Amino acid sequence: MSSLADDVEAGFRRRFSYAPAGIWSAPGRVNLIGEHTDYNEGFVLPFAIDRRTFAALALRDDDVVRVSSGESDETVEVRLADAAEGPAVLDGVSGDARWAAYPLGVVWALGQLGADLAGLPGFDVHFDSDVPIGAGLSSSAAIEGALAVALNEVWRLGFDGSRLVDVCHRAENDFVGAPTGILDQSASLLSREGSALFLDCRDGSSEPVDLGLQASDLAILVIDTKVKHEHVSGGYAERRAACETAARELGVRALRDVSWPQLLAARDTLDGIVYRRARHVVTEDQRVLDTVAALRAQDYAAVGDLMFASHRSMRDDFEISTPELDLAVEISLNYGAIGARMTGGGFGGSVIALTPVSAITQVQVAIDGAFAEHGYTGPEMFLVWPSQGAHRER
Ligand code: ADP
Ligand code: MG
Repeated sequence: MSSLADDVEAGFRRRFSYAPAGIWSAPGRVNLIGEHTDYNEGFVLPFAIDRRTFAALALRDDDVVRVSSGESDETVEVRLADAAEGPAVLDGVSGDARWAAYPLGVVWALGQLGADLAGLPGFDVHFDSDVPIGAGLSSSAAIEGALAVALNEVWRLGFDGSRLVDVCHRAENDFVGAPTGILDQSASLLSREGSALFLDCRDGSSEPVDLGLQASDLAILVIDTKVKHEHVSGGYAERRAACETAARELGVRALRDVSWPQLLAARDTLDGIVYRRARHVVTEDQRVLDTVAALRAQDYAAVGDLMFASHRSMRDDFEISTPELDLAVEISLNYGAIGARMTGGGFGGSVIALTPVSAITQVQVAIDGAFAEHGYTGPEMFLVWPSQGAHRER
């Protein structure tokens, strides 16, 4: 059924001239609601999507590790012992092959979290993916997750899902050097088909929440605006710092610990911008809880209202939206979506719209028209379905 599984197997044979021992895969993700709550130790509600990264892998009988990808012409070869040491293993590697930090980071992190790498054989791995890279759908968590489940099995490590989340999170933060919360890796590794993952970013606990989309004739449309503004990292750092300031001044460990009445009471003591940043986080945590309750009651109108409230909060209080994202939300709602919001870190990226299947075409046509009218780059639009987390394919 899945032709990417065939492609990755053929790719492995081409690059390494023998057959892989197995094929594993892990999905990208979108976040239904709960933005900038992860580093405030709050709640998020992502789901794995039906776009995946496939890993074809075989163990070797020496300690060599070779990593290869359909996205890159270069195969990177290192010794397992050197990968176990840390990021310096990539010192001699060319710029084009820096992507190898993701898989080699997983190897290193498995060692950091308890695998005895010195006693294990090397491996060859080839990746192929239909997760758009760098589009905010977390191709990075997908490549990490696919390799983590593969190595967990062939090396017989016996790590459970939440330990693999820690492994991939560690790889991306401390080896690749990209600071992220546990949202992406949890969604890619732990999601169940048809469900979102209700995740508590304080203790890492999670539970599936049935989305019931198909039974309700609903779909999630992704509208990728293709816009990425330059102040992404600066803006992100400023938002994080404002949240830390608010937590400190309110005398709590994280904004997770602040109730809405408490925040309101502190209104006059906090700096105006800090107050609005905190208001987004505190109300967004509550919206995640309310969305979980609404999904369990199959009250999709309420889910839609919460999505739009989340968007307004990001637009007005957290100030991380863009005119393109705002337009995509507005047009989606005007043409039949029951909820829409920007998703991801902000300053560009994608909108998700909860849309009756019967209205999808009219929403897409209206968005194309409105973007053209405003002189914006034509967005890319596609449906995503809640899918199974990382697993073995064959
Ligand atoms: P996102 O996770 O939103 O797609 P990131 O910047 O976090 O964007 O991660 C993208 C990076 O992950 C790519 O630049 C590349 O280095 C690496 N990557 C992801 N998927 C693959 C793949 N299939 N093959 C090679 N590298 C990949
Ligand atoms: Mg990423």
